[in-house]
Amino acid sequence: MAQLASPIQGFKMTPMSAPQTVRCPNCGNIGERRYLHSNLVRTQCPHCDYLMVSCSETGRVIEAYSPGLYQSSV
Ligand SMILES: [Zn+2]
Repeated sequence: MAQLASPIQGFKMTPMSAPQTVRCPNCGNIGERRYLHSNLVRTQCPHCDYLMVSCSETGRVIEAYSPGLYQSSV
């Protein structure tokens, strides 16, 4: 019953060289989201070096890196 009809099939129309702008969940600045494959999405933020690679099909996070913005040890 939980099976989805996978509307992501026609997703390949999105050119991989066209990043989208998204809000960084770590620092709130504008980052970019780029499609690596048909179902892999990489979110990256140049402001705080935030990085996340996730699967757009399952929502599963493959790789994530969020630097501590407010490190007091600097
Ligand atoms: Zn950021």
